[in-house]
Amino acid sequence: MSDLRICVNGACGKMGSEVVRAIAKNEGVVLKAAVDFMNVGKNIGEIAGTKDDILIQDDLKQALSKDEIDVVVDFTNHKVIYGNSKTVLEMGIPMVIGTTGLTNEQVDELKSICEQKQVGVLWATNFAIGAILMMEFAGKAAKYFGNVEIIEYHHDNKLDAPSGTSLTTAGIIKEIRKSKKQGHPDEKELLAGARGADYDGFKIHSVRLPGFIAHQEVIFGDVGQILTIRHDSMNRESFMPGVILGCKEIVKRNAFIEGLNKLL
Ligand code: NAD
Repeated sequence: MSDLRICVNGACGKMGSEVVRAIAKNEGVVLKAAVDFMNVGKNIGEIAGTKDDILIQDDLKQALSKDEIDVVVDFTNHKVIYGNSKTVLEMGIPMVIGTTGLTNEQVDELKSICEQKQVGVLWATNFAIGAILMMEFAGKAAKYFGNVEIIEYHHDNKLDAPSGTSLTTAGIIKEIRKSKKQGHPDEKELLAGARGADYDGFKIHSVRLPGFIAHQEVIFGDVGQILTIRHDSMNRESFMPGVILGCKEIVKRNAFIEGLNKLL
């Protein structure tokens, strides 16, 4: 089989440039186009530190128009991801979306475009295998522990909060845990936001500090015991096997798939 031809959207970003390096290191995939608003006209090989000789473009539609792209990988931001996805899917090209922050309504809309166009999308809020296991274990624990809080830690350049991973984890817990409002009924915040964001009666806390990459603790509490499930991505390479696997698998599907676990 010939190599999958990939376009990376957001190619100059922290994740996008890591994807460019991962494509260079992996067999079965080849970089064909690099799109970003930064460094337009420069060579992506120089930016990402690879041997690629491809100029960065800022027009996604134009980058895809030559009928040479098999998959678009998108790591941009929550403000543009919906528009990007519509552009790509309307052209019938499969996508691997790592960008977080799509709303439920946007996901529904993208699902119906996938159905109409018979094209596949993988949207994964976390591509690290350890994070997928952390979410699975949290789901298991939620069957036995009705009280839980999530603390997620990210670098301070992250634009959306809470993180996509924490929302995915919260959704899994919600499916299993009996819905209830946790904490003391008379609890009062002396400083607004002190108790974090509410999700089905439990809390999600977002820490943003330089030094962190992507980390999460899911803490379950019961009388006399605490169970903490923690995952740490120490660098962005931890996400790359999942992204490459996603590219290779999504071309065989024709639906909107949420979560890398569905492809494992
Ligand atoms: P970043 O800010 O470093 O990179 C984003 C890049 O997108 C920038 O280079 C920016 O110029 C570019 N960009 C913005 N708008 C664009 C547009 N309309 N067209 C083309 N390029 C555009 O951010 P990052 O840390 O690389 O994160 C990117 C996204 O990936 C975020 O949503 C983040 O939450 C998510 N993320 C997901 C995972 C995962 O495993 N799924 C892991 C880490 C980060």
